[in-house]
Amino acid sequence: MTEPEATPKTGKRVLLAKPRGYCAGVDRAVQTVEEALKLYGAPIYVRKQIVHNKHVVQTLEARGAIFVEENEEVPEGATVIFSAHGVAPEVYEQAKARSLRAIDATCPLVTKVHQEAKRFAAEDYDILLIGHEGHEEVIGTAGEAPAHIQLVDGPDDVDRITVRDPNKVVWLSQTTLSVDETLETVARLKTRLPLLQSPPSDDICYATSNRQHVVKEIAPDCDVVIVVGSRNSSNSVRLVEVALDAGARAGHLVDFAHEIDDAWLADARTVGLTSGASVPDELVHEVLAHLAARGFTDVDEVVTANERLTFSLPQELKRDMKAATRG
Ligand code: SF4
Repeated sequence: MTEPEATPKTGKRVLLAKPRGYCAGVDRAVQTVEEALKLYGAPIYVRKQIVHNKHVVQTLEARGAIFVEENEEVPEGATVIFSAHGVAPEVYEQAKARSLRAIDATCPLVTKVHQEAKRFAAEDYDILLIGHEGHEEVIGTAGEAPAHIQLVDGPDDVDRITVRDPNKVVWLSQTTLSVDETLETVARLKTRLPLLQSPPSDDICYATSNRQHVVKEIAPDCDVVIVVGSRNSSNSVRLVEVALDAGARAGHLVDFAHEIDDAWLADARTVGLTSGASVPDELVHEVLAHLAARGFTDVDEVVTANERLTFSLPQELKRDMKAATRG
């Protein structure tokens, strides 16, 4: 009997980051659309991209989800799902006015930031919200207390901030920022506002910080780091920046394996691979297969944390699911 041939060693390896990919909030949001399609039937309307990933959006569209920008595009009385990034209170009001059945797939960790914003606004604080201008999450959070919230879009934005009372100021943040850049922004804010208060608990979520942490671990050993994720995904874009800051020689963001340019791999011996929090792992496996076909057959998974958090589906959906099983 002949021994099976061993895979030839090429000296080319992949450092595969873990944690990577889906977080608890994304998993819940995608499941919300899937369950709503099963329960109510197509079409189901979704306000904005449910999560910022091209593949996920295309897959749900094929099953009968219709993605819209605003509630007014949803027919009166239809079902609309609000995305994981959260919405301002006025969006719920608009839905009510159009008699829409609204299901809120906002990540509970985004809801937590909304609650902090409401609480500090009720206590008449000035709130400095660190985040990216125009990002849906920031628009939703700022909408909770527009008269009290100012956006701080990175360290260079600090100098233009003015507050009513420097003794009564707190900072909050978007959940998907760079941990290091946010620390820098806060340090600069504190030089101007020494009594600035911090959020009661971290606003940058566990998934964002865990994915950045493992990328920092692998980046110094990598000739190139490939991040699977979409361009409008804040946490995915941050992963490329973090990899470069931590010493990767190059970093690229791709939605799909076929977008990888062979030139990126030409002189590489070690490729780092990770994915943003809205990316299903099948896309990472396609990249692994693509890399293996180019000699990167040796895969080491580098694990810096084990994530076990899960969130239950939105109450309004669970209630209807229960009623359907009873009926
Ligand atoms: S990245 Fe964080 S805040 Fe955003 S959906 Fe995932 S767990 Fe929630």
